[in-house]
Amino acid sequence: MPKPNTHYFEVRIKIGGYANLVSDPEKLRLKMPVWTPGSYLVREFSRNVLDLDAELSPSGKKADSYKVSKNEWIIETERSPEIEIFYKVYAFELTVDTSYLDNLHAIINGGSVFVYVEGMENIEGVLDIIPFSEWKEVSTGLKKVSKDDFEFVFPNYDILIDSPIEIGNQKVHSFDVGGKKYEVSIFSQIMFDQASFVNDLRKIVETTVKVFQDVPYDKYLFLVDLMNDNSFGGLEHLNSTHCIAPVLRLDPPQEYHHLLSLFSHEFFHAWNVKRMRPRGLGPFDYSKETYTKSLWIAEGVTSYYDDLLIRGSGIYTISEYLESFSYNVSLMKTLPGARMQSAEEASFDSWIKHYRQNENSPNTILSYYTQGSVIGWMLDMEIRKSSGLSKTLDDAMRKTYRETFVAEGRGFSDEEFERNCVEVAGSDSIKEIFRQRVSGRTDMDYDKYLGYSALKLMPKKVEPRAGFLGVRLREESGKGLVSTVLSASSAETAGLSGNDEIVALNGIRMDKSRLSYYLPNRKPGELVSLTATRQGALIQLEARLTEKPTLEYRVAKKDEASEEERRFFQSWLGADWSAEIKYEDYKQSPSKTNLLEYV
Ligand SMILES: [Zn+2]
Repeated sequence: MPKPNTHYFEVRIKIGGYANLVSDPEKLRLKMPVWTPGSYLVREFSRNVLDLDAELSPSGKKADSYKVSKNEWIIETERSPEIEIFYKVYAFELTVDTSYLDNLHAIINGGSVFVYVEGMENIEGVLDIIPFSEWKEVSTGLKKVSKDDFEFVFPNYDILIDSPIEIGNQKVHSFDVGGKKYEVSIFSQIMFDQASFVNDLRKIVETTVKVFQDVPYDKYLFLVDLMNDNSFGGLEHLNSTHCIAPVLRLDPPQEYHHLLSLFSHEFFHAWNVKRMRPRGLGPFDYSKETYTKSLWIAEGVTSYYDDLLIRGSGIYTISEYLESFSYNVSLMKTLPGARMQSAEEASFDSWIKHYRQNENSPNTILSYYTQGSVIGWMLDMEIRKSSGLSKTLDDAMRKTYRETFVAEGRGFSDEEFERNCVEVAGSDSIKEIFRQRVSGRTDMDYDKYLGYSALKLMPKKVEPRAGFLGVRLREESGKGLVSTVLSASSAETAGLSGNDEIVALNGIRMDKSRLSYYLPNRKPGELVSLTATRQGALIQLEARLTEKPTLEYRVAKKDEASEEERRFFQSWLGADWSAEIKYEDYKQSPSKTNLLEYV
């Protein structure tokens, strides 16, 4: 990376000892993955590869090389003992799936930078990183060859690309928990209290390792990029995670506490999915989609735990935890997509639906993250109830982890996970959750499970009777555009579509903020005239407003709780039932979207 401002990585690969490993030693086949594990979308990383060339060694003669598909190259070896490959990778996409290089730092997510030789995926290798001259740090989960340089060994290609690398002048912190070492590498252009952040990560680690009661690595690395824009995301790896988050979310505390769930989510993955994994996920075929019906377990149950562990670490107040919990339940109750996809269907179609959303997605899909987090909670509540509070979902997770990954090094089947939940609960009652919501699309009775702790769902706000069109709006260059038209809403009946611009209502010029003010102040049943534009043409419509339904819910206490319900509350939320639930309103960061903002 001699010129980081050009955003090009220069890659050189030396290949030897291939003769007995590849199917045709005359022609080496190089491949670049089309996707990266943990992110279920075909991303075509080879589109950023340039100038691939090869040389025979030791002769120094240029080797013939040519492309045979979008992500495959053939090198004519002439049976030379060693082949050297050179290429450049344009890296200017700052996400946890892609790679990035600028004058401040570099991030390598290996699947988008390193090619592999077909037949040699399981061969160990050495990675020598030559940082830009002004950079002093290389942070990665790969093992160093020696202390003083930036040479790392990898046992196979899977591990190489499962080890993201940050190169720059980031600050590296460390701590120990239970004899294991943790490193936190932080890239940030803004000063903030890094020690307190690292201390919060330590608390999360201490709480999380208790779930599986087995720590399957010697060292774990949090690679953290705190950005000045809205960049946000995390990706799990075997002994590390790479997380990108906006600095704006470090404050206020409620927003920061919620942000920490990103880190606890990715850390929990060190067990759930990186080791205890659905059968379909691994060994990986990097050249095409890999299907599984269990992303709701891999991602969704992890999402249930990410908040629960923040609560268990003493970071979230009960109200903060229940606020986040209620948001997921509201999405399940309110969005039409929840009735169009089961958790298994959402998992299976991740590749073409979850990662490729459009204006109609809220009507047709509901993320396996949301579904799985609510299902995980219901499973946890039912296990606690059936076992008389002697067992929790932790026991079912631990059982699955031990019996599949630890004992046999294999993935689990959907049936096996369900069987383990039933066994731990000691009752068949839990099967209903699997039939109705895992394979079915039923709107569940959330009050039943909340009732175990003498809690119930309530509307988030008691609002006056308001007119409702059924659209979500977005603003573009001062215009009020329709993001989504809810199924069966008055907007749909009137003929509005996603991406229409609402120009005027009842002859009054509108933009997003005027619409958000004007619509809720109409009366249900009122007929409004709408002037909109679609693909440049003006259209005139009429809509009869309905009454605004409850879109958002919150958890509230019932008036009284029995002794058993009090114990249940304590077991789930780690506090006495008499603890106050007091929701605080605060202005949310612009990187956080409320999917329930319909007018
Ligand atoms: Zn995840």
